[in-house]
Amino acid sequence: MTARLNLIVLGKQGAGKGTQSTALSEKYAIPHVSTGDMLRNAVKAGSELGKQVASILQAGDLVSDDIVNQLVSERFKEPDAQRGVLLDGFPRTIGQAEALEAMLGEEGIKLCINLDVPIELVTQRLSSRRVCQECGTTYKDTDVEAISGTCSNCGGDVIQRADDHPEAIRTRLMNYERDTEPLLSFYGNRGLLVIVDGDQSPGAVTDEIIKVVHERGLA
Ligand code: ADP
Repeated sequence: MTARLNLIVLGKQGAGKGTQSTALSEKYAIPHVSTGDMLRNAVKAGSELGKQVASILQAGDLVSDDIVNQLVSERFKEPDAQRGVLLDGFPRTIGQAEALEAMLGEEGIKLCINLDVPIELVTQRLSSRRVCQECGTTYKDTDVEAISGTCSNCGGDVIQRADDHPEAIRTRLMNYERDTEPLLSFYGNRGLLVIVDGDQSPGAVTDEIIKVVHERGLA
Protein backbone atom coordinates (compact mmCIF):
# COMPACT_ATOMS: atom_id res chain seq x y z
CA MET A 1 0.00 0.00 0.00
CA THR A 2 1.24 3.52 -0.72
CA ALA A 3 2.01 5.55 2.37
CA ARG A 4 -0.88 7.65 3.62
CA LEU A 5 -0.71 11.30 2.72
CA ASN A 6 -1.95 13.00 5.87
CA LEU A 7 -1.69 16.78 5.59
CA ILE A 8 -2.69 19.51 8.03
CA VAL A 9 -3.65 23.00 6.92
CA LEU A 10 -3.23 25.49 9.77
CA GLY A 11 -3.89 29.19 9.84
CA LYS A 12 -6.02 31.89 11.38
CA GLN A 13 -9.72 32.06 10.65
CA GLY A 14 -10.07 33.56 7.18
CA ALA A 15 -6.53 32.60 6.15
CA GLY A 16 -7.90 30.51 3.28
CA LYS A 17 -7.77 27.02 4.84
CA GLY A 18 -11.06 25.94 3.29
CA THR A 19 -10.16 27.12 -0.22
CA GLN A 20 -6.71 25.52 -0.13
CA SER A 21 -7.99 22.32 1.43
CA THR A 22 -10.57 21.93 -1.34
CA ALA A 23 -7.91 22.41 -4.03
CA LEU A 24 -5.41 20.06 -2.37
CA SER A 25 -7.95 17.38 -1.63
CA GLU A 26 -8.81 17.32 -5.35
CA LYS A 27 -5.18 17.36 -6.42
CA TYR A 28 -4.16 14.45 -4.18
CA ALA A 29 -7.48 12.59 -4.18
CA ILE A 30 -7.74 12.56 -0.40
CA PRO A 31 -10.84 13.65 1.53
CA HIS A 32 -11.11 17.16 2.92
CA VAL A 33 -11.84 16.65 6.61
CA SER A 34 -13.09 19.90 8.12
CA THR A 35 -14.22 19.67 11.74
CA GLY A 36 -15.97 23.04 11.31
CA ASP A 37 -18.04 21.64 8.41
CA MET A 38 -18.79 18.45 10.34
CA LEU A 39 -19.98 20.43 13.35
CA ARG A 40 -22.02 22.87 11.23
CA ASN A 41 -23.64 19.92 9.44
CA ALA A 42 -24.57 18.42 12.80
CA VAL A 43 -26.18 21.74 13.80
CA LYS A 44 -28.05 21.94 10.51
CA ALA A 45 -29.27 18.35 10.84
CA GLY A 46 -30.46 19.04 14.40
CA SER A 47 -28.71 15.91 15.73
CA GLU A 48 -27.92 15.43 19.42
CA LEU A 49 -24.37 16.57 18.76
CA GLY A 50 -25.69 19.57 16.82
CA LYS A 51 -27.88 20.64 19.74
CA GLN A 52 -24.94 20.28 22.09
CA VAL A 53 -22.58 22.48 20.05
CA ALA A 54 -24.84 25.06 18.34
CA SER A 55 -24.40 27.84 20.89
CA ILE A 56 -20.65 27.18 21.18
CA LEU A 57 -20.24 27.62 17.42
CA GLN A 58 -22.37 30.74 17.33
CA ALA A 59 -20.26 32.37 20.05
CA GLY A 60 -17.02 31.40 18.29
CA ASP A 61 -15.82 29.28 21.21
CA LEU A 62 -14.06 25.95 20.88
CA VAL A 63 -15.89 22.66 21.14
CA SER A 64 -14.29 20.27 23.65
CA ASP A 65 -11.30 18.19 22.60
CA ASP A 66 -13.18 14.99 23.46
CA ILE A 67 -15.99 15.74 21.03
CA VAL A 68 -13.81 16.69 18.07
CA ASN A 69 -11.26 13.92 18.70
CA GLN A 70 -14.10 11.43 18.62
CA LEU A 71 -15.53 12.92 15.40
CA VAL A 72 -12.17 12.76 13.66
CA SER A 73 -11.29 9.26 14.83
CA GLU A 74 -14.65 8.01 13.48
CA ARG A 75 -14.00 9.82 10.17
CA PHE A 76 -10.60 8.08 9.84
CA LYS A 77 -12.37 4.71 9.75
CA GLU A 78 -14.20 5.55 6.50
CA PRO A 79 -12.85 3.77 3.41
CA ASP A 80 -12.02 7.01 1.59
CA ALA A 81 -9.69 8.09 4.40
CA GLN A 82 -7.38 5.10 4.00
CA ARG A 83 -5.13 6.82 1.42
CA GLY A 84 -4.77 9.89 3.59
CA VAL A 85 -6.66 12.98 4.69
CA LEU A 86 -6.48 16.72 4.37
CA LEU A 87 -7.16 18.12 7.83
CA ASP A 88 -8.70 21.59 7.99
CA GLY A 89 -9.47 23.07 11.41
CA PHE A 90 -8.10 20.08 13.30
CA PRO A 91 -5.99 19.89 15.39
CA ARG A 92 -6.64 23.23 17.03
CA THR A 93 -5.18 22.63 20.48
CA ILE A 94 -2.11 20.82 21.77
CA GLY A 95 -4.46 18.22 23.31
CA GLN A 96 -5.95 17.54 19.88
CA ALA A 97 -2.48 17.36 18.27
CA GLU A 98 -1.44 14.77 20.84
CA ALA A 99 -4.64 12.81 20.29
CA LEU A 100 -4.02 12.92 16.54
CA GLU A 101 -0.52 11.52 17.02
CA ALA A 102 -1.98 8.70 19.07
CA MET A 103 -4.55 7.99 16.32
CA LEU A 104 -2.08 7.97 13.40
CA GLY A 105 1.21 7.04 15.04
CA GLU A 106 4.21 9.38 15.24
CA GLU A 107 4.96 9.07 11.53
CA GLY A 108 1.35 9.68 10.64
CA ILE A 109 1.48 13.37 9.78
CA LYS A 110 3.52 14.18 6.70
CA LEU A 111 3.29 17.95 6.63
CA CYS A 112 1.68 20.87 8.40
CA ILE A 113 1.13 23.91 6.21
CA ASN A 114 0.61 27.21 7.99
CA LEU A 115 -1.13 29.84 5.89
CA ASP A 116 0.35 33.05 7.18
CA VAL A 117 -1.92 36.10 6.88
CA PRO A 118 -1.83 39.30 9.00
CA ILE A 119 -4.62 39.73 11.51
CA GLU A 120 -5.95 42.95 9.90
CA LEU A 121 -6.45 41.14 6.60
CA VAL A 122 -8.23 38.11 8.07
CA THR A 123 -10.54 40.35 10.09
CA GLN A 124 -11.46 42.20 6.91
CA ARG A 125 -11.90 38.93 4.96
CA LEU A 126 -14.16 37.41 7.63
CA SER A 127 -16.42 40.45 7.92
CA SER A 128 -17.07 40.55 4.19
CA ARG A 129 -17.26 36.77 3.73
CA ARG A 130 -20.39 35.05 2.49
CA VAL A 131 -20.65 31.30 2.04
CA CYS A 132 -22.82 28.80 0.18
CA GLN A 133 -24.67 26.68 2.70
CA GLU A 134 -24.65 23.70 0.35
CA CYS A 135 -21.20 23.46 -1.23
CA GLY A 136 -19.18 25.84 0.95
CA THR A 137 -17.99 28.09 -1.88
CA THR A 138 -17.02 31.45 -0.40
CA TYR A 139 -17.85 34.86 -1.83
CA LYS A 140 -17.30 38.51 -0.91
CA ASP A 141 -20.28 40.59 0.18
CA THR A 142 -19.99 42.60 -3.04
CA ASP A 143 -20.15 39.51 -5.34
CA VAL A 144 -23.32 39.01 -7.35
CA GLU A 145 -23.89 35.63 -5.64
CA ALA A 146 -23.81 37.30 -2.22
CA ILE A 147 -26.21 40.00 -3.33
CA SER A 148 -28.64 37.60 -5.01
CA GLY A 149 -28.18 34.97 -2.29
CA THR A 150 -27.70 32.18 -4.85
CA CYS A 151 -24.52 30.16 -5.40
CA SER A 152 -23.37 30.09 -9.04
CA ASN A 153 -21.65 26.76 -8.41
CA CYS A 154 -24.57 24.71 -7.06
CA GLY A 155 -27.62 26.99 -6.72
CA GLY A 156 -27.53 26.74 -2.91
CA ASP A 157 -28.28 29.62 -0.53
CA VAL A 158 -25.44 32.07 0.02
CA ILE A 159 -25.44 33.34 3.61
CA GLN A 160 -23.27 35.00 6.21
CA ARG A 161 -21.95 32.42 8.67
CA ALA A 162 -23.50 32.72 12.13
CA ASP A 163 -20.01 33.22 13.61
CA ASP A 164 -18.82 35.85 11.11
CA HIS A 165 -20.07 38.75 13.25
CA PRO A 166 -17.58 41.09 14.98
CA GLU A 167 -17.85 39.67 18.49
CA ALA A 168 -17.44 36.03 17.45
CA ILE A 169 -14.64 36.98 15.05
CA ARG A 170 -12.77 38.57 17.97
CA THR A 171 -13.34 35.50 20.15
CA ARG A 172 -12.21 33.10 17.42
CA LEU A 173 -9.03 35.04 16.72
CA MET A 174 -8.25 35.26 20.46
CA ASN A 175 -8.81 31.52 20.81
CA TYR A 176 -6.56 30.96 17.83
CA GLU A 177 -3.73 32.90 19.44
CA ARG A 178 -4.14 31.17 22.78
CA ASP A 179 -4.88 27.58 21.76
CA THR A 180 -3.79 27.06 18.17
CA GLU A 181 -0.66 29.15 17.70
CA PRO A 182 1.32 26.82 20.03
CA LEU A 183 0.87 24.15 17.35
CA LEU A 184 3.38 26.03 15.18
CA SER A 185 6.16 25.04 17.60
CA PHE A 186 4.63 21.60 18.12
CA TYR A 187 4.96 20.80 14.39
CA GLY A 188 8.05 22.99 13.93
CA ASN A 189 9.90 20.89 16.52
CA ARG A 190 8.98 17.78 14.57
CA GLY A 191 10.35 19.26 11.31
CA LEU A 192 6.89 19.12 9.77
CA LEU A 193 6.01 22.81 9.55
CA VAL A 194 6.00 24.84 6.35
CA ILE A 195 4.97 28.49 6.36
CA VAL A 196 3.29 29.77 3.22
CA ASP A 197 2.38 33.40 2.58
CA GLY A 198 -1.43 33.36 2.47
CA ASP A 199 -1.63 36.92 1.18
CA GLN A 200 -1.39 35.88 -2.48
CA SER A 201 -3.97 34.72 -5.01
CA PRO A 202 -5.53 31.36 -4.10
CA GLY A 203 -3.89 29.72 -7.13
CA ALA A 204 -0.44 31.03 -6.19
CA VAL A 205 -0.84 29.68 -2.64
CA THR A 206 -1.90 26.26 -3.96
CA ASP A 207 1.08 26.16 -6.35
CA GLU A 208 3.48 26.96 -3.53
CA ILE A 209 2.07 24.16 -1.37
CA ILE A 210 2.18 21.64 -4.23
CA LYS A 211 5.82 22.56 -4.78
CA VAL A 212 6.68 21.84 -1.13
CA VAL A 213 4.79 18.53 -1.14
CA HIS A 214 6.74 17.56 -4.27
CA GLU A 215 10.12 18.72 -2.92
CA ARG A 216 9.60 16.64 0.20
CA GLY A 217 8.85 13.61 -1.96
CA LEU A 218 5.42 13.18 -0.41
CA ALA A 219 3.47 12.88 -3.67
P1 ADP B 1 -12.95 28.97 11.73
O1 ADP B 1 -11.56 28.41 11.52
O2 ADP B 1 -13.19 30.17 10.88
O3 ADP B 1 -13.33 29.18 13.15
P2 ADP B 1 -14.20 26.39 11.23
O4 ADP B 1 -15.22 26.09 10.19
O5 ADP B 1 -12.91 25.65 11.14
O6 ADP B 1 -13.99 27.96 11.12
O7 ADP B 1 -14.81 26.15 12.69
C1 ADP B 1 -16.02 26.72 13.08
C2 ADP B 1 -16.26 26.47 14.57
O8 ADP B 1 -16.35 25.05 14.81
C3 ADP B 1 -15.16 26.94 15.52
O9 ADP B 1 -15.30 28.30 15.87
C4 ADP B 1 -15.39 26.01 16.72
O10 ADP B 1 -16.50 26.41 17.48
C5 ADP B 1 -15.76 24.70 16.06
N1 ADP B 1 -14.57 23.86 15.77
C6 ADP B 1 -14.13 23.48 14.55
N2 ADP B 1 -13.04 22.72 14.64
C7 ADP B 1 -12.76 22.61 15.96
C8 ADP B 1 -11.74 21.96 16.71
N3 ADP B 1 -10.77 21.26 16.11
N4 ADP B 1 -11.78 22.06 18.06
C9 ADP B 1 -12.74 22.75 18.69
N5 ADP B 1 -13.73 23.40 18.05
C10 ADP B 1 -13.75 23.33 16.70
